[in-house]
Amino acid sequence: MQANMREDVSEVLLKGDVIQKRVREMGRQITEDYARLHPHLICILKGATVFHADLMRAIPLPLSVDFIAVASYGMSTHSSGEVRILKDLDESIEGRDVILVEDIVDTGLTLNYLVHNLQSREPSSLKVATLLSKPVRRQVEVDLHYVGFEIPDKFVVGYGLDYAQRYRNLPDICALRLEPRIDGP
Ligand code: 5GP
Repeated sequence: MQANMREDVSEVLLKGDVIQKRVREMGRQITEDYARLHPHLICILKGATVFHADLMRAIPLPLSVDFIAVASYGMSTHSSGEVRILKDLDESIEGRDVILVEDIVDTGLTLNYLVHNLQSREPSSLKVATLLSKPVRRQVEVDLHYVGFEIPDKFVVGYGLDYAQRYRNLPDICALRLEPRIDGP
């Protein structure tokens, strides 16, 4: 980790090697569950890119991938609760076995919106794989089929997760020293 980035984080929550091991386990589970199927792994940009890239390489099945981008907290520090699709999927998911790959489920609002949106496109099946979940923050219940780690209510960065577009390249998942507010005012 670069010196200035290390100064910004208060605590390493999950070290890179622990994350890698867990992602391989998730890949094994998905491989077992989707044996003889061709899962379609949809990455939610941008936070899930690193997880998606590692997870797909842990699944030795004939899979395919696509990408979707939704408006998230961005440069601001609190959630509006509104979800907007910024970049839609390239391909139809009708009749496909979709796994939605998310970085972190916090209130659940983003995922709840996306699951309903994607269900209306009539996939054969739709499951969710998230690397992280903060259960104490949940406002709406969403079915999470594969969860890497449950974490406490801390704002985390690294392994794809950002704050103001920074820290995505940290191999570990860390809590920020100055925690941004992600609640309403
Ligand atoms: P939700 O709709 O579940 O409240 O939030 C989902 C999105 O909020 C995530 O995909 C992520 O972009 C952002 N988010 C929630 N908690 C965190 C966090 O601790 N760190 C970062 N970097 N983003 C978060």
